Amino acid sequence: MSTVKPAQYTSEDVIRLFSKLVDVIIVVDKTTEKYRAVIRRGMFETLFDEEGDYNELISTLLIHLNTTSEKLPEGYQAFLPNYGTFTTKYSKKLKLVINEGEQPHIVQLMVYPLVEEDAYMLIMDELDSNESEQENQTYRKVETIEKTFLFSMYIDLVEDTTGSLNISEISEDEVQAELKYTDWRNMIVNVIGKDDQALFLERSDPEYLKKMFTPGRTSSFDCLMQNLEGVYIWVKLIFSRIETGDPDDYKYVFMVQNIHEEATAMFSSLKKLSEMALTDSLTGVFNRGKIETSVKNAVKEWGAQKNPLSMMIIDIDHFKSVNDEHGHAVGDKTLKRFAHVISDCLKEEKADIGRWGGEEFVVVYYDKTLEEAVDMAEKLRATVAESPMPNAKKVTCSIGVAQVKENDKFEDVFERMDKALYAAKSGGRNKVVAG
Ligand code: GH3
Ligand code: MG
Ligand code: MG
Repeated sequence: MSTVKPAQYTSEDVIRLFSKLVDVIIVVDKTTEKYRAVIRRGMFETLFDEEGDYNELISTLLIHLNTTSEKLPEGYQAFLPNYGTFTTKYSKKLKLVINEGEQPHIVQLMVYPLVEEDAYMLIMDELDSNESEQENQTYRKVETIEKTFLFSMYIDLVEDTTGSLNISEISEDEVQAELKYTDWRNMIVNVIGKDDQALFLERSDPEYLKKMFTPGRTSSFDCLMQNLEGVYIWVKLIFSRIETGDPDDYKYVFMVQNIHEEATAMFSSLKKLSEMALTDSLTGVFNRGKIETSVKNAVKEWGAQKNPLSMMIIDIDHFKSVNDEHGHAVGDKTLKRFAHVISDCLKEEKADIGRWGGEEFVVVYYDKTLEEAVDMAEKLRATVAESPMPNAKKVTCSIGVAQVKENDKFEDVFERMDKALYAAKSGGRNKVVAG
C-alpha cells in the first residue's frame, strides 16, 4: 500500500496506477512491425499473444469485430493494412465478439503514435458491464430499427427540400446533404415496383399531400421497392404531416418500413385461404361455386375466341348401395378415391374438375372437340371401372359429354350434357354418351 498522498503523486505513481486500470498496453515497433504486450489482462490474454506480428494483432481484432450489420463498421479503414499507419492519435469504441453467439464486449481502443520512436502505443480497455450493457441495448435498438425502418426523411413542401433524419440517439449516420423533394420523388420512383409506380406518384404528389393531410395526419400504403442489393421487397411507405401550429407549414415525415417478412407470410396464408375457399374439402377438387364459375366463364370466353370447348358430367353408378352396404364413412373414402382417379387421368390436360354435388362431378375440358372429349370420357370410365376402391369394392360411373355450340348459353350445354348422362344411365350405366 502506498503511503503517498494523491497531491504528492509523481508521474511514476500515476503510471503505476494507470497500468492497473487498463486491460492492455501494447507497444508496436513500426520498423520491424512487431508488437509486445506490456500489459494484457482478462479476455485479452486469450485474444492475443504476449508478442507477435502487428499485422496479426490487427487481423485478430478484425476477425472479432462485431459486424452483424451489413455495413462496414465506421473506423474499419483504420485497420486496413495500407491505412494502418496512424499519423495522429486515434480513439474508437470497438465491439468485439470473443466467442460466437456471445454478447459483444465494448472496448475502448486508443492509439498513440510515438513519432520520435517510430512506434505506437495501443491502449485497450473494456468498458464496465453497466456501460457495456447500455451500449449493447443501443446496438440492438439500432439493429431493430435498421431492420424495420429502412430510412426516414424530413420533407418541407413549401421549401421543396428534404433531409435525412437521425433516428434519435441511435444512428451514427450523418444528416445527408439536402435534396429537392421533387428531385427525390423522380429518383425514388425508379426503385418502386412497376405496378406500384402510379400509386407512388399519386400519393407522393405535393398537391395531394397538401390537400389530403391535415396537420398530424398519417397515411401509408404498401408496395414493392428495390433494396440496396436490387431485390424487390415489400415495404410500407408512411407519410405523416407534422403538427407545427402554423397552417401554412407543409412539413412531413416520410418513412420506409420493411414489412417483407410479415407481408410474404400473410400472402402465403391468404393464398392458402383462397385455395380452401375454392376447394371441396372432402375430395380436394374444385367446389360447386368454383366449378360453376369455371363453366360459366368458359362458355362466355368461348364466344370470343372460338377454340373448341367441351364438358362432361360424371355420376357414380349405384352409389347409394356403397353407403348402404359399407356405411357412410366408406362412401366418403370412395368419393375421395374416385375424385383422385379422375384427377390423375386428367392431370396432363387443360381441364377444371369440380364436385357438382353428392356423387356428381363436372369437367370443363378446354380446347377439345366432342370426339376428343368422348375419347377422354371413355378413358375415365374404363380407368374408374378398373381402379380398386376402399373395402376392395369397385365402382363404375356414367358420363354425359357435350360440346359448346354457337349461341349456347351455359344452361343449354348443361341440358345436353344432363340428357346424355340420363341416356347413359338408362342405357345400362358404366357408359359414355355424347349429347
Ligand atoms: P345412380 O346410378 O342412378 O346414380 O344411383 P345412385 O345410388 O348413385 O344415385 P342416387 O342419386 O339415388 O344416390 C346418390 C347417393 O349418394 C345418395 C347419397 O347418400 C350419396 N351421397 C351423396 N353425397 C354423399 C357424401 O358426401 N358422402 C356419402 N358417403 N354419400 C353421399
Ligand atoms: Mg347422382
Ligand atoms: Mg349416382
